[in-house]
Amino acid sequence: MREPQTDFVTRRLGVSRRDFLKFCTGIAATMGLPGSAALSLADTIANSAQQKPVVIWLHGQECTGPTETLLRAEHPTLERLILDMISLEYHQTLDAGAGHHVEQAKEKAIAAHAGKYLLVIEGSIPTKDGGIYCKIADKTMLAHTQEAAEHAGAIIAFGSCASWGGIPSAGPNPTGAKGAYEVLPGKTVVNIPGCPPNPYNFLATVLHYVTFGTLPELDEKNRPKFAYGRLIHENCERRPHFDAGRFATEFGDEGHRQGWCLYKLGCKGPETYANCPAVEFNDVGGGTWPIGVGHPCFGCVEEGVGFTKPLFSLSTVKTHTPPNAFPTIEQRQGSVKMTGGAAALAGAAVGAVLGATGIAIAANKKTTSDTTESDS
Ligand code: SF4
Repeated sequence: MREPQTDFVTRRLGVSRRDFLKFCTGIAATMGLPGSAALSLADTIANSAQQKPVVIWLHGQECTGPTETLLRAEHPTLERLILDMISLEYHQTLDAGAGHHVEQAKEKAIAAHAGKYLLVIEGSIPTKDGGIYCKIADKTMLAHTQEAAEHAGAIIAFGSCASWGGIPSAGPNPTGAKGAYEVLPGKTVVNIPGCPPNPYNFLATVLHYVTFGTLPELDEKNRPKFAYGRLIHENCERRPHFDAGRFATEFGDEGHRQGWCLYKLGCKGPETYANCPAVEFNDVGGGTWPIGVGHPCFGCVEEGVGFTKPLFSLSTVKTHTPPNAFPTIEQRQGSVKMTGGAAALAGAAVGAVLGATGIAIAANKKTTSDTTESDS
């Protein structure tokens, strides 16, 4: 493996070579790849100018949350990393142009890169009445999706709406909204659900595809296993309280202020598979996530849980067995720190690696990594 030539990329991103390589090591660790893979990832990013994959990005029924989560990530280099790494030929939100010219450009890009381009779908696809409830350039989203998927090299459904219907498909689903895989029979659609989805899971998936020419290992719902392989409940910082029977029972009560388990407030962590506790949002490692700030997980990534089960309803607990050893808990005013616990440590380890790299790159940003606790 040749040494990645990082001068150009580190100059462009404004980070040191060391921090850039640390970041790549963190991404490799997130995907469960060996350390040597980090060099391959770094090489891909460093040489992205020569090997940019063409990306066609479609929007259906949604709030633009997945695009926003990429662009508004606090990490200063994330969106630059992604947008530098790909050749974004068509994106209905970001395109400066509009109308027939943009549509023609998309058709040209599809024809010129048939079999090689990456198709990203954001938002659900209405199917009722021929799909007339979402039209772009006088064509239904259903037709756009099926046409663009025909010659795509790989297809990613980004966000819960594109993955399985999300909010638009919630009962009574007046537009017949569906996930991309349902309107693309016979195609492999990689699902990266979330509301919003985590941008680092997208980055890691695209990097894997660009670097190794294959998609990461997927689960039975076509989600990357590295991101959706573990139950939130098994890696949650409040898990010691669940095992010890300490629950918040109302928002703002004593248990809530103490940072106790949110199960009785309807937390769906016990039946939701995602790496939110490890990767967090807003900024890697120095960021936060819903349970961390006192809001129950509502299972946004999980079909049949998010936007389906009422928030107040109790979760189905898939694992009843507590860890062999109960972690000790240090309580400080308004916050909780866990100092042990095998189950939680497994997730924390990945988070720590990513956190360290993210913090190192975001040199001028706040670096607090304390678990934020709700005082409200
Ligand atoms: Fe964490 Fe929710 Fe499980 Fe409680 S029920 S330990 S808050 S995931």
